[in-house]
Amino acid sequence: MNVSIQFRDKFFIPIWQKIQNGNRLSLEDGVALYNTNDIISLGKMAHFVQQQKSGDAVYFVLNRKIEPTNICVLSCKFCDFATKPGRPDAYEMTNEDIWSKLTPDLHEVHITGGMPAHWGWEHYLEMLSGIKEKFPEIDIKAFTAVEIDFFAKKFRMSIEEVLRQLKEVGLRTMPGGGAEVFSERVRRLLFNQKIGAKRWLEIHRIAHRMGIPTNATLLYGHIETIEERIVHFMKLRELQDETGGFLSFIPLAFQPGDTGIKAHSHFTSAIDDLKTIAISRLMLDNFPHIKAYWVMLTEEVASVALNFGADDMDGTVGEEHIAHDAGAITPMQLAKNQIIKIINDAGKIPVERDVYYNPINVYTDHVIGKIPYLNSVPFYHHFEKQQFKILPINPRRMGLLSEKGQIDAGLFSLMDYFQQESHLALLPWCIATRDQVKSVMLFSNHGWGDLDGKLIGVTDETATSVRLLQVLLGKRYGVRARFERLHAGVNDYSAYDAVLLIGDEALRRNKFGLAGFELVFDLAREWYEWQKLPFVFAVWAVKKSLPEETKKELSEIIGHSLSQSEPRYAEIGELRGKEIGLNRNEVEEYLAGFNYRLGEREKEAMREFKSLAQETESVNIKGVHHG
Ligand code: SF4
Repeated sequence: MNVSIQFRDKFFIPIWQKIQNGNRLSLEDGVALYNTNDIISLGKMAHFVQQQKSGDAVYFVLNRKIEPTNICVLSCKFCDFATKPGRPDAYEMTNEDIWSKLTPDLHEVHITGGMPAHWGWEHYLEMLSGIKEKFPEIDIKAFTAVEIDFFAKKFRMSIEEVLRQLKEVGLRTMPGGGAEVFSERVRRLLFNQKIGAKRWLEIHRIAHRMGIPTNATLLYGHIETIEERIVHFMKLRELQDETGGFLSFIPLAFQPGDTGIKAHSHFTSAIDDLKTIAISRLMLDNFPHIKAYWVMLTEEVASVALNFGADDMDGTVGEEHIAHDAGAITPMQLAKNQIIKIINDAGKIPVERDVYYNPINVYTDHVIGKIPYLNSVPFYHHFEKQQFKILPINPRRMGLLSEKGQIDAGLFSLMDYFQQESHLALLPWCIATRDQVKSVMLFSNHGWGDLDGKLIGVTDETATSVRLLQVLLGKRYGVRARFERLHAGVNDYSAYDAVLLIGDEALRRNKFGLAGFELVFDLAREWYEWQKLPFVFAVWAVKKSLPEETKKELSEIIGHSLSQSEPRYAEIGELRGKEIGLNRNEVEEYLAGFNYRLGEREKEAMREFKSLAQETESVNIKGVHHG
């Protein structure tokens, strides 16, 4: 994707170079970005990164925010939500009250609130297990690091033990609140009873290690300096490098309202809000998502933010006491339809998601699915979108959306194409290997013959590679293993005898190894040695019902992009390769190993695999299924 920006601020030129080359921004870069008046160029740079990560998608989740009580043992100066027991404004919800606020159509419940001295540990466990039991489809995002620290101290448990017990009763992810700004100076002045940066980061580190993804926040617009904001980003970036467990970053504009920070009683400006969103997108290069928190920003600013780096909006929030009581002017309930409208008006794709950012529904036309792996870059690098919009989505999710008629075209996982042949028409392109693939890999502690009865963790991202594994095990090696689905986000692989990974994650692990597994098998090579045929992992297909003219136009766009990309694999894949840890030569070699044209040999391979897949007993895959 070539983007040229006419900079008014010449300081941006070296920064833009770094961004385009996938290099990290420094503290000085961050400060220079804040000091600019060239806000449009800043937004364009952030939008470039946003497009690389999320295409045209803007996510939202239908959630309910619940604050079980406003009674809190702490008294942070910026908080006008909390109160003390016995005061007229104090409230406490029973667990029954909480459960009564939920409905099965929600996808997420977000629970945070005050920390009362008199609630027992069992009360919290019952709160979560009751939700899980009554609403198994609702994912629980609950308790900030501040609350987790409070539980550990009050109930005399380690952080690990608190999280283990909460996870057992249904905790799926943790919100990012309580980070405020990672500055000891600010902490001492505004929230000196609260945990500091070190403890906050440590709790999130432990959560990530235990397979609990989390979010992160920054509370800005009070007494913090610009440098302190940038240092905050850098500390988050460092932890994300280590764990990969953050899902999204949410900049929270300070709401002065009736807080204890009287000297600082103005709202942040829209310019500051947009700068903070854009700069967070640029500094946090390893965070998948940046959220525009419309409750605090107002609808208008949130809408512009969708072209300034933000790719996520909060869903139906319900009763949002903390922001509202401090004076947020946005109406408390923004209906799903309004969110969809805001996103559509910004020229984006409204994508309803689950807690792991898996798309559940999309609400616009002309959506083209894009497999978000390096091997599909040649199809999209020079893709001239015209009326189409690009949705990065893993192959399995693309299949599910296509079943509902919500995707017009895309690179479909082969198994999904087989299942939907009645309404999908093939286009003459595919992702096929010659022999090895390097990105559909089985990491194992056992040779093929010894996998009988063993537990294999399998990717949740595609049906084709999993079916290929079952065909190889059953037909080539005559063994029968047990399978469990891995979920998106952080997984604990030590529970498995072998793990099947695909895409960029497999490519990275293939190069750097996967701790705990000694053997690595390339499934395409296994297939090739056995069948002497290429393997077709994905095919381009389009809805049969689309007008012939649209199909033709799309076909031409794909063909054009591919022919532009073919002579330049090293160049077009460099940025993505860097994220994976591959150099230019490795990228070039990897992409040159694919055949992107659906020829006769590929069609023969598809027929052969289809018949072997039909003959192979389908083994039940146990596992968490989200969305
Ligand atoms: S910000 Fe949180 S911890 Fe601080 S007083 Fe308010 S509710 Fe309590």
